Amino acid sequence: MRVATNIAVLGTQWGDEGKGKIVDMLTPHFAAVARYQGGHNAGHTVYVRGQKFVLHLIPSGILHPGVTCVIGNGVVIDPQALFREIDELAKLGISVEGRLLISEKAHIILPYHRELDVLSEARRGERKIGTTSRGIGPAYEDKIGRRGIRVCDLLGDREALAQEVRENVHARNQIIKDSTLDWQPVFRQMVEHGERMRKWVGDVSVFIAGLMARGDRVLFEGAQATLLDIDHGTYPFVTSSSASVGGVCTGLGVPPRAIGGVLGVAKAYTTRVGEGPLPTELEGALADRLRESGQEYGASTGRPRRCGWFDAVVVRYSARINGLDGLALTKLDVLDGLKEVPICVGYSTSSGPITEFPADLRLLAAATPIYETMPGWSAPTKGVTRFEALPLEAQRYVRKLEQITGVPCSIISTGSDREETIVAPGSVVERWLAYA
Ligand code: GDP
Repeated sequence: MRVATNIAVLGTQWGDEGKGKIVDMLTPHFAAVARYQGGHNAGHTVYVRGQKFVLHLIPSGILHPGVTCVIGNGVVIDPQALFREIDELAKLGISVEGRLLISEKAHIILPYHRELDVLSEARRGERKIGTTSRGIGPAYEDKIGRRGIRVCDLLGDREALAQEVRENVHARNQIIKDSTLDWQPVFRQMVEHGERMRKWVGDVSVFIAGLMARGDRVLFEGAQATLLDIDHGTYPFVTSSSASVGGVCTGLGVPPRAIGGVLGVAKAYTTRVGEGPLPTELEGALADRLRESGQEYGASTGRPRRCGWFDAVVVRYSARINGLDGLALTKLDVLDGLKEVPICVGYSTSSGPITEFPADLRLLAAATPIYETMPGWSAPTKGVTRFEALPLEAQRYVRKLEQITGVPCSIISTGSDREETIVAPGSVVERWLAYA
């Protein structure tokens, strides 16, 4: 009998861990790749034989012919951003026809959500979140506020849609001073978008259940990351959706037992974009060194990322929240040439040392990392494809991370290309990819 394992691949830190590359390399083993949350604020950069692809909304599985890409109900969709991405992929010779499925329950980002995003950031002043200003937060607010507009609404009764748009625009005009936005052009635009989207829209839960019944596997793709999760992240400096594993069930309509394994993607150091505490944050030359070697600039916004050492408290926390079976450790090569590589193993706080990630951001902001420092390595790890071929110190660094986080490194990434990867022999990843 064939036993097919569906797996979730998600971020364990503050995002930008290199999930795109990992999903991309695993995709040939799956029938479908399904995004369960977030919007076009995500930016996955994938290099295939030197050619760069940046995907925001469409799962990175699209680069593989024959794989169906699913956008779940947990995702919020800006139709214009979606069409732009589809058109850009077409220019690169990649067609989504016949292999894109959009949930009829996904919520729509309306043109004015972006404006509300900018306004809400401005109103927060000092406490601004550092959002990408793409309207994602306000669209989720409307969803939770039970006034959102869903994909199925664009395709259904026109009268009902007109009323929903009218009411929403009216509510928005009351929030924005002196605003007299007319609802009718917004309505007409939504109708047009719905017509273009129609052929891709369907019932995602039924589709995934069907695949599973046939013994085909699905890869559940996370955007952003656990520390940006609305519930488990560093609230309020988080995204507006469930980026951790719980989001798979709510964001796609699949039962927990459909998730056969969870792979957490972790960078060999830590980065963060936007505001909020980052305990291991570095400044000065070392931060610049990591930023430049790691090319730590946002794929969506170009913003420079804040950089720091690997924080094992964070990854251990992620391991618990998500039930990680394995880690995909990325960007090990960025640490090549460093004299020493500190790992944060706990925090020193005013109420004593802690090793569990705290909820209170004030405590976190005042915490000082407790480091265990490992010797660095001078020989390059870049492009290495076997663990034994890594410099001994790099091997020890990886082993130490496994020991402190309690999760085995099933994949080690040593460069941005698909080929620049070590898959640990006998790891969970090998087991998942084999049919029993
Ligand atoms: P994602 O959103 O988690 O997919 O991450 P991003 O795409 O925003 O950022 C990851 C960046 O790191 C991309 O430019 C990747 O090509 C690159 N990358 C991924 N893995 C590695 C690696 O092992 N080494 C290096 N040097 N770059 C990598």
